[in-house]
Amino acid sequence: MRFGKLAAVACVTTVMGLAAASAALAQYAMVTEPVLADGPLEQVSPHVWVLRGFPNIAFVVGDKATLAIDTGLGPRNGATVAKIAARLSTKGQKLYLTTTHYHPEHAGGQSAFPKGTTVIRNRAQQVEMDTDGQRMIDFFSNSSPARKELLAGVVPSKADVLFDDKHVLDLGGVHADLYWFGPAHTAGDEIVFVREDATLVPGDVVENRLSPNINCDACSPKKWIKVLDRIAVLKPQHIVPDHGDLGGGALVAQERAYLVDLQAEADALKAKGVSADDAGKQIAAAFAVKYPNWFGMQNLPAITKKAYADAP
Ligand SMILES: [Zn+2]
Repeated sequence: MRFGKLAAVACVTTVMGLAAASAALAQYAMVTEPVLADGPLEQVSPHVWVLRGFPNIAFVVGDKATLAIDTGLGPRNGATVAKIAARLSTKGQKLYLTTTHYHPEHAGGQSAFPKGTTVIRNRAQQVEMDTDGQRMIDFFSNSSPARKELLAGVVPSKADVLFDDKHVLDLGGVHADLYWFGPAHTAGDEIVFVREDATLVPGDVVENRLSPNINCDACSPKKWIKVLDRIAVLKPQHIVPDHGDLGGGALVAQERAYLVDLQAEADALKAKGVSADDAGKQIAAAFAVKYPNWFGMQNLPAITKKAYADAP
């Protein structure tokens, strides 16, 4: 595992202080190196393999088809993902690709997938890709020369199949249920549940001790909690977050508790008449002590503003 330039710890985070980032990396396997390695893979359940990286890429392999979830940043990484998918599949097996959200490290490598790949995503995500995809590609390109090179020539992509709330993929002996449960990290977050394996691939919606990052106007902590409540009904046993360490079903409750705590603190401070800016600072300071092993805490002032908008 390699650690790259510490420009961003999760998708679209603000720049972290180098000391803070080093401390974070000392205790947490958060990969930011933008080039995916060609393995090794981890098998998390009978039909699911994971390539750890920026981001973690999941593969669901059935008897008649394989599903790759996310592409990596740009076509060079997309080609690596497609190559691994082919290696996991029997010769000539159907390949599907879906993307957890429209951010370029998740969807920006689509052009490298072979002809005949069927790309599926939810309609809300496609709308977000169409309206904000280019801005996000430019944002990532401008964050480092390496990213700029990986994203050269990349434009927002289209899906072959769009769905509204749910799409079931029968891969042969295993099903991947693709869900859109509403806005959380982005408006078009897709949740993949591999039914027979009870394995969840939730994009950025369930992470492992990574402070939530909100990137859309329609998103808020309260809406994120609603999405988590729908995920909890699935009762996942294995969870493959997009960034950082893999985990068990308890990650859903852990993510929910953090957001509930954040909203409660925001509600209380707003009731006292504290400004949103001051509340962001206070909550960031308090959570740094309360959640010492968490990352991405620099996003707390921004997410506090979202919590304030929903507070009574
Ligand atoms: Zn993201």
